[in-house]
Amino acid sequence: MNRSLYSKLIFEHSRSGRRGTDLPRRPWADAMLHLPAALMRGEAPALPEVDEPTVARHYTNQSTNNFGVDTGFYPLGSCTMKYNPKLSDALAADPVISRLHPAQPASTVQSALEIYWTLQRALSEIGGMEEFTLNPFAGAHGELTGLMVIHAYHDSREDYARTRVIVPDSAHGTNPASAHVAGYEVVEVKSLPDGTVDVDDLRSKLDATIAAVMMTNPNTVGMFEKNIPEIAEMVHAAGALLYYDGANLNPMLGVARPGDMGFDVMHINLHKTFSTPHGGGGPGAGPVGVRKGLEEFLPVPRVVKNSDGSFDVIDRCDSSLGRVSAWFGNYTVFIRALAYILSLGAEGVAKVGPLATLNANYVMNALKDLYLLPIPGPCKHEFVFDGLIDKSGGVTTLNVAKRLLDLGFHAPTIYFPLLFHESLMIEPTETESRETLDAFIAAMRQIAGEAAENPEFVKSAPHDTPVVHPDDTQAALTPKLTYKDLQDGI
Ligand SMILES: *Cc1c(COP(=O)(O)O)cnc(C)c1O
Repeated sequence: MNRSLYSKLIFEHSRSGRRGTDLPRRPWADAMLHLPAALMRGEAPALPEVDEPTVARHYTNQSTNNFGVDTGFYPLGSCTMKYNPKLSDALAADPVISRLHPAQPASTVQSALEIYWTLQRALSEIGGMEEFTLNPFAGAHGELTGLMVIHAYHDSREDYARTRVIVPDSAHGTNPASAHVAGYEVVEVKSLPDGTVDVDDLRSKLDATIAAVMMTNPNTVGMFEKNIPEIAEMVHAAGALLYYDGANLNPMLGVARPGDMGFDVMHINLHKTFSTPHGGGGPGAGPVGVRKGLEEFLPVPRVVKNSDGSFDVIDRCDSSLGRVSAWFGNYTVFIRALAYILSLGAEGVAKVGPLATLNANYVMNALKDLYLLPIPGPCKHEFVFDGLIDKSGGVTTLNVAKRLLDLGFHAPTIYFPLLFHESLMIEPTETESRETLDAFIAAMRQIAGEAAENPEFVKSAPHDTPVVHPDDTQAALTPKLTYKDLQDGI
């Protein structure tokens, strides 16, 4: 394909006077007569002047410049880029659902409320929690909501001395950020060489100023924290609550429930665990679950089932922390998540954890002779390599990731977690076939071979993508959001 032709901006195709379609002028001119003069534009807007085939080809080609779960394998550790079933999309797009309005009276949307309530119940069952709110829009938003629940709980007991939250050093970056936004000071707890939390360090930091301890299990390096019952006991004895970051609940499905382990509050990312799209950063959903005794602090609105089988919306509750969202949350995401759960059934859901774990261990074992495995397995749903074993050619994790793009695979997560210099974090998920995993393994092995024989070739990758090495920092610091910005060099 002629990349240089199709990687142009639409404005660069513009030729003065060129048109896509010629519409008869009269009807529009007549309509314009009714507009107040003050609203009429004096000059034509600076739009690209292009013919229709150019527009069609431009946007069709642009749509293929990105990488998605529908184009290829996407083993982005921690992000759980599993395939999004088309059945779930079709249900969410059904006009019966997509044309509802959140302000409709409960009596007119009983089925929609039943769907909402059913998902609340399904998540409570899966998490081993008493009740769930579906309101938060993302994992980080769920963490903030969960911490607000914890705040409301301590406040209700007039226990105002608890101003700090403990977070492991391996935690996802959103954990300390959410604790800070919730008004807490963050206290870091160390990891042991095997990647799990240092229980002695944790014990030494627990006192009457700690509101909560946030944990991820399996943790961010894919290791199972075996000491949770002991940790839960310590945390509760100190009067604090135990928070479970279940953004990625994949490895737990069908195997264990956070509620049974002693966690008090948790969130789940539907856009990871339940296969709803992450596209463009959302829309997502980060429902929050709580154990019995904390449900009164959950945000409103909440959906409840009446004794006669009908459904209602609770909009006010004195002990509730209030609202965290304008309405009920991202409803079409809930449809997709419930469709995923119901299409798998209890039996299918119970296979997700074991399959995700099997796939991760399969890939890990097939590559660990070439890539450095700092924490020996078995892993759970994901694992981390610390770059190539043979680093003599100077090929870095970034180079490996870029070269994978040439070979048709999205890169794994790189340089996270921060525990290793050359982190390369791989999460295959349960939705991939053996053939896909084998093809990925072959590509990774090919790159390791190239790194030894011709390191410069790997370092100059990717060789076949429309954009090669974007400067992420400059893009964030000085974003160019319009064609005019680009022209003006702003
Ligand atoms: C993805 C993730 C989050 C954050 O979720 P967002 O929806 O991106 O805000 C939090 N914790 C863990 C462990 C995650 O993997």
